[in-house]
Amino acid sequence: MFVIEGREARAEIKDQEEIDRIAEKLAEKGYTKVLGSVVDALCNAASVRGQITTDQILYGRPYPRRRQGVPIGEMFFRGQSGFVALPVRGGLQVWGFRHHTCQSTIEQFCQDFEEAAKASLDGRRLRGMDFTWQSASMQSASRARYWEEGEEAEEIELGTLPSYTSEEVDLTKLLLHRSVRTFVLRLAQVKKARAVDVSEGIDVQELIDKGLIRQEYLIICREDSHTISILPSQESLEQIGEEVRCPTCSRSFREELVQEIYVLTDQARSLISGSRWMSIWVTEILLENGVEKENLRWGLEINGEELDILLNIWGHKVFFELKDREFGLGDAYPFVYRVSRYGGSLGVVVTTDKVAKDAKRFMKEQGIRTARLPGLPVPAFPVIDFRTIEGESNIPKGVNDLVNELAKSAALTLVSRFGEFGLNVEPVVEAWLDAQISQNA
Ligand SMILES: [Zn+2]
Repeated sequence: MFVIEGREARAEIKDQEEIDRIAEKLAEKGYTKVLGSVVDALCNAASVRGQITTDQILYGRPYPRRRQGVPIGEMFFRGQSGFVALPVRGGLQVWGFRHHTCQSTIEQFCQDFEEAAKASLDGRRLRGMDFTWQSASMQSASRARYWEEGEEAEEIELGTLPSYTSEEVDLTKLLLHRSVRTFVLRLAQVKKARAVDVSEGIDVQELIDKGLIRQEYLIICREDSHTISILPSQESLEQIGEEVRCPTCSRSFREELVQEIYVLTDQARSLISGSRWMSIWVTEILLENGVEKENLRWGLEINGEELDILLNIWGHKVFFELKDREFGLGDAYPFVYRVSRYGGSLGVVVTTDKVAKDAKRFMKEQGIRTARLPGLPVPAFPVIDFRTIEGESNIPKGVNDLVNELAKSAALTLVSRFGEFGLNVEPVVEAWLDAQISQNA
C-alpha cells in the first residue's frame, strides 16, 4: 500500500514565485520538481530564462485574473518518495507518498523545505513564517481546498481498537484450513466428539497442542450407558479412589467405561463466535499491507447489529462485513442501512463463500441511488460504493488490492488541483520575442 503522510505549518506562501524559488533550492538537494520541469522544458525550448513563474504558464489565459488566489504549489520526487507542497489559506501543507515497506521521508522533506525557504526568501518574509510542523489529515486537505464548503466531517468515536492476542492469530491460521474449521464448527454444535468421529486429515494432536481443542474423559455407566462424570485427564481418574462409585450400578469409577472425547477450548469458542477469527484474519491482512491499527475499529453497533470492521482512512470510512458463508439479500439490507447510517463511503463484503446475485444487484442499485439525483449527470451526494471479495483464496489479494486502490485515489485527490490549470505558452513566447527584439536591436 502507499502510505500518505501529511504535515502542516503556519508558513504562508505569498505567491508561486516563492514556491518556485524554494523548488530551485530543493532541486539542489536532489528533489525533482514536477510542475517546474514543464516550465523549464518550455523555457529551454525557446532558450529563454528568468522572470517566468510556474503559475504564469500553468494558470492559462486569461492571466493574471486568477492570480489573487492561493498559489498552485509544487510536486517533487526523490528516490522512492513523492511529495506535494500545497499552499493553503494561512499556511502550508506538505504530503509525502511512499510504499509502506519504504522508510518514511516526510520529516526529512519538511526539514529540507524549511532550509530551502530560509535560503531563498528574504528575512522580512521569513519572520512571518512559522515552520512548526503538525500532522495534517486528509479532511484538512479537502477543507483547505474547498473551504467554501466548509464543514468538517463528523468523526467516528464508536467501536474499539482491534484487540487480540498473538495466540489467537496462530489459532486463526489453523482455522484457515477448511477441514479444521468444519471440524471445529461441528464440534461447537455437537459439543463433543469421540476420536472415531474425527475425520481424516485432521491432526488432532496439533489442534490440542495449539489450544483449539482439549481432551476430556467421560465415565459412562456400564449398566445404563449414562454419562456419570467428566474428567479433565486420565491422571485424575487414577487419583479417584475406589470409594467414588456409580449411583446406578455401584461400580467404582475405575470399573466403568471410560471414553476419550474432544471439546472446544474457551478460546476456540470465542474465535468462532460471530466469526471473530475472520475479523482477526482480515485485520492482520490490513496491517500487513501498511494500514495502521489506529485507523481500524471493531464492534460498531447499531440497534444490536454489529458492523465488523471500520477502516477510517484519508477521510473515507470503509466498512467491512465478514461472512463465513454465502452473503444473501437478507444480509445486504441491514448492511446497506448501517453503512449509510454511519456515513460510510465504501461498504465491502468479504465472504469465504459467495455473494448472492440479488444481493449484489441490490447493493449496486443502492450505490447509484445514494450517488445521484434524478436528471443530474454528476454525483450530488457523497457516493456510497459497495464491493465484494468472494472466496477464501481471493481474500488476501482482494483486501490488498482494495487498500492500494484507496491509497491511490487519496494520493490522486491531493494532486488533482494541479489538473485544474490550462497550459499557457504565452509568457515563454513573449520572453522569446523579447529576446529576439533585444538581440536584433
Ligand atoms: Zn454404573
